[in-house]
Amino acid sequence: MAQKKSSQKVNANKKLVITSIDNKEKRLTALSDEIWAYAEVAFQETKSSKALADYAESQGFKVERGVAKIPTAFVATYGSGKPVIGVLGEFDALPGISQKAQPTKEAYQVGAAGQGCGHNLFGVGSLAAAISIKELIEQGKLKGTIKFFGTPAEESGNGKVYMADAGVFNDLDLCFDWHPGTKTEASTQSSTAVVEYNIEFFGKAAHAAGDPWNGRSALDGLELFTDGINMLREHIRPSSRMHYVIQNGGDVPNVVPEYAKAWIWIRDSKRAEMDRIVERMKDIANGAALMAGVEVKATLLSGTYEILVNRTGAEYMHKNLQSLGAIQFTEDEHNFAKAIQRATGVAEDGLIGEIGELRETSDITGGGSTDTGDVSWIVPTIRMTATTGAVNAPWHSWAEVACAGMSIGHKGMMHAAKAIGMTIVDAFENEKLRTDAKAEFDEKRKGHVYKAYLSDGPPPIKSGK
Ligand SMILES: [Zn+2]
Repeated sequence: MAQKKSSQKVNANKKLVITSIDNKEKRLTALSDEIWAYAEVAFQETKSSKALADYAESQGFKVERGVAKIPTAFVATYGSGKPVIGVLGEFDALPGISQKAQPTKEAYQVGAAGQGCGHNLFGVGSLAAAISIKELIEQGKLKGTIKFFGTPAEESGNGKVYMADAGVFNDLDLCFDWHPGTKTEASTQSSTAVVEYNIEFFGKAAHAAGDPWNGRSALDGLELFTDGINMLREHIRPSSRMHYVIQNGGDVPNVVPEYAKAWIWIRDSKRAEMDRIVERMKDIANGAALMAGVEVKATLLSGTYEILVNRTGAEYMHKNLQSLGAIQFTEDEHNFAKAIQRATGVAEDGLIGEIGELRETSDITGGGSTDTGDVSWIVPTIRMTATTGAVNAPWHSWAEVACAGMSIGHKGMMHAAKAIGMTIVDAFENEKLRTDAKAEFDEKRKGHVYKAYLSDGPPPIKSGK
């Protein structure tokens, strides 16, 4: 299982990054465990955001809180002038999956949320990388600006889209990001673009048996709409996905429903294709309303872009991961993972600590979405994943909450912090990385000017979807 570290030389500044992060291990894991225990959901991450922002401030960063009209969004800045390098950090949890840091299913707090995506590690790991760079700037070893972005509501609500719309990423030369996972590798894969709409139908109420001719059924409109969407499925690309729920279909059968509402998500691996489906979806809504003799309103809620992969940056990240070598998990940690794998009925493969290959960027068909996609269309974004959980076991579940609250998660976080810090050193020291990454970004973006998928009005801070 042992994987040899690459013979590549780790330069002095990168060694200082590693030392800085190692020296803070106790503080970093304590902060991560604190946010793990808070387990606050989207837009309500008051304590988690404060813990990260306070720590950044204590380390000498200038912290601007409540950016983009989101109380839990913040930007921590150190240094001045070019280059300006950013790191993203998430911290929101998922509702209903509270779990103790143990390999058998048992809630930490019954009914509460849990860190089933490891965002407690994500936020702290990224901040640790930013702090290590701040120290190098402070010592005069690097010149420029480092920014840490506290980005709330990734799981629901797309906090980064509001931040992107407010322009907080506009002055960056490069941006960094990682995500907890079951592998450790530089990220070379995209995500799906997604857009969410409310579709509402407005009819006329009447007695469904007494005078139905006076009624116009909003539910008829909605049913014709979903019929149309389901017929459209035959004529979309394999890369597209559509899913909806009916949120209101009337109250009682003896009243012709005057109001009906569906919530629909449309995805594609390419935003442009998704936009074409949205136009067809609107035609279907209008056609359905015409047939039912009712009115319809389509309201954009929010959406995210697909990740614009930056392979130039990923190659640097990969080299740094190779020089760090595999994450060394102990026998106990493998056994912890195997117990989870047994409990969730998947292959008992333990943990993958080895560094993965730099994979070809594939045309993905389906899969999840992330609001980091929006950032990646504004600034070249370099990403990685680190092992913080048991391979094969269900993600967004108690299995990852358990690992994110103990040494498996901590080790992945420390590794990510170091690899990101080292690659940021490359970004400061090596102008060629910045210009090559930008050239790739410009070529792939093809002149597209970023525009956020957002409804009018402020972020839905209280609603929680
Ligand atoms: Zn996540």
